[in-house]
Amino acid sequence: HLSVRLATVGKYVKPNSRLADIGSDHAYLPINLALNGIIKYGVVGEVREGPLDNAKHEIAKAGLNEMLQPRLADGLAAIEPGDNVDHITIAGMGGALITHILESDKERLTGEETLILQPNVGEENVRRWLMDNGYTITAEDILEEDGHIYEIIVGQQIGQVPQYAAEDLFFGPKLRIEQNQTFIKKWQRELTQKQGILDNIVQSHHADQTKVSQFTNEIEMIKEILNSES
Ligand code: SAM
Repeated sequence: HLSVRLATVGKYVKPNSRLADIGSDHAYLPINLALNGIIKYGVVGEVREGPLDNAKHEIAKAGLNEMLQPRLADGLAAIEPGDNVDHITIAGMGGALITHILESDKERLTGEETLILQPNVGEENVRRWLMDNGYTITAEDILEEDGHIYEIIVGQQIGQVPQYAAEDLFFGPKLRIEQNQTFIKKWQRELTQKQGILDNIVQSHHADQTKVSQFTNEIEMIKEILNSES
């Protein structure tokens, strides 16, 4: 019973791989991938006892004690060199927390791992971190479930220095070219929301000019992409 969101994250994990799922909560994603024969080994990282207990319970129930290792750890500290993980998933948190988790322990990354990241908000942060750390965005996805729109960003170090324009970081280098229905819906929503926020800022007595120009720029970018022919 995997959500469409987690199933889509799982699509980017290659068969026969070794996964670390950081912030796993119930470990639904690694359990599903193990049962489907996609991963042969998985580290299940959790920073909190309660969710880790959930994970342990679900792993035992699925009979996967041999294949999945639940570990109480902050972020990438869950990963040990002997794990030889080749995929890392971090899903269902804000982009700022995801980049914090990556940044604060990045010496643990070998550069060989495929990073599959699903920020609930703050996608731009995540893309900027990937670019700044030499990761090319090799795939992106966008989906709607229960009224929420989610993005998935896949980063890999593939031996070239990625250069992304402001629009790439904001909309996603692949999503903005593809412009599917869900993408259009997301940015129509964002446009309405940002226009509302800007109106409120402008009407307040001491309008913060930095915010005014930030929102004005973003609104212009969104209008441009929604009006462009794809
Ligand atoms: N990844 C699952 C998903 O996408 O459905 C669970 C998402 S849940 C909303 C976020 C989980 O991340 C929580 O269980 C929380 O305890 C965990 N978490 C937050 N910060 C973390 C960190 N620094 N290291 C490991 N886990 C963390």
